Amino acid sequence: MECHQLVDKITSRIKYTYAKQLSYAGRLEVTLAVLFSIHSFWGSVFILPQSVVKEVDKKCREYLWGGNEEKRKVSLVSWEKICYPKKQGGLNIKGCGKWNVASVGKLLWQLVMRKESLWVKWVHGIYIKTDTVWTHKAPVDSSWYWRKINSLKNMMQQWYTQGQFNLTANGEYSIIRGYNDLIGNQEKLEVAELVWNSVVLPRQRFFLWLAMQNRLLTKDRLINMGVYVEDNRCCLCQNGMIESHKHLFVECEYVAKVRAKLLQWANIFIPARELKTTLEMIKLKHWKKFKKEVVTAICGAIVYHIWKARNWKHFKGVQIQYTDIVEGIIRELIVRIDMYENTKRAHRCRSFWQNLCK
Ligand SMILES: [Zn+2]
Repeated sequence: MECHQLVDKITSRIKYTYAKQLSYAGRLEVTLAVLFSIHSFWGSVFILPQSVVKEVDKKCREYLWGGNEEKRKVSLVSWEKICYPKKQGGLNIKGCGKWNVASVGKLLWQLVMRKESLWVKWVHGIYIKTDTVWTHKAPVDSSWYWRKINSLKNMMQQWYTQGQFNLTANGEYSIIRGYNDLIGNQEKLEVAELVWNSVVLPRQRFFLWLAMQNRLLTKDRLINMGVYVEDNRCCLCQNGMIESHKHLFVECEYVAKVRAKLLQWANIFIPARELKTTLEMIKLKHWKKFKKEVVTAICGAIVYHIWKARNWKHFKGVQIQYTDIVEGIIRELIVRIDMYENTKRAHRCRSFWQNLCK
């Protein structure tokens, strides 16, 4: 099969026609499904050629940010970071490139351990003979597949000599562990659990994750990127302040009014700080888990609806009343919170739950 046909086959679920109607959260789901199909089928059977791996990653990346074959969109977060586990600030996307390497790791491990399989016996008999896996040099006329495995050996040897192919408790090689090793130890995102908690609406989780890292395309960022911006001021208030994440989500009097009303509704107090700090404060509170999740959902809703109101004003000239936003968020959250009525975690903070849903 030709490489581009293989790419098309793997990425056949990516349909640009509907991409625009899907939110980031929707496109993230499709991306995960595409990459999962590689890992569960293609990746475990074959080693994919580098050109295929690169092309699949590129297609997924462009699709996730809302671009298509003709028009590229800015990647708001690097693909490398997106591939980190959520606990380390990423989206837990199993990027195709590193996954491919980790899959090769499994084959090498089988060879090193001389696992009982026809393939292992065959390779030892034909290629390795009296050498070891590590000292063996792949002949130039050997198959592409064999040369590929050998070219990745050095990376694997380091793991191996350090006494770890990062094996499971049963002493088996795990591709996922190999993959995480390749990603390495990244800084931990302490509030990841809160950001991705299920009470927050999926599309709002994504925005919260973006805004928390200052990754939305606010006017100050656009200017820094060299994009021409006619008016750099915040369009939600009349104070002439430059539109930045800090202004839009913390200092702006419009967001302050929305936040005050919602905190009053939830009967809680949190000082106005930047998003990440706010989440860290929620995490440290002596609240029950569910209460922390709901308060994070309020943060997510604020970010999402403020950004939406900003876009309505900026692109269509329509000013949404802050009271409409507050009412909308409360309605939306009551439906959401109500879904947890019969769960243990909601029972543990019954009075808080009742206070919101009464
Ligand atoms: Zn403002």
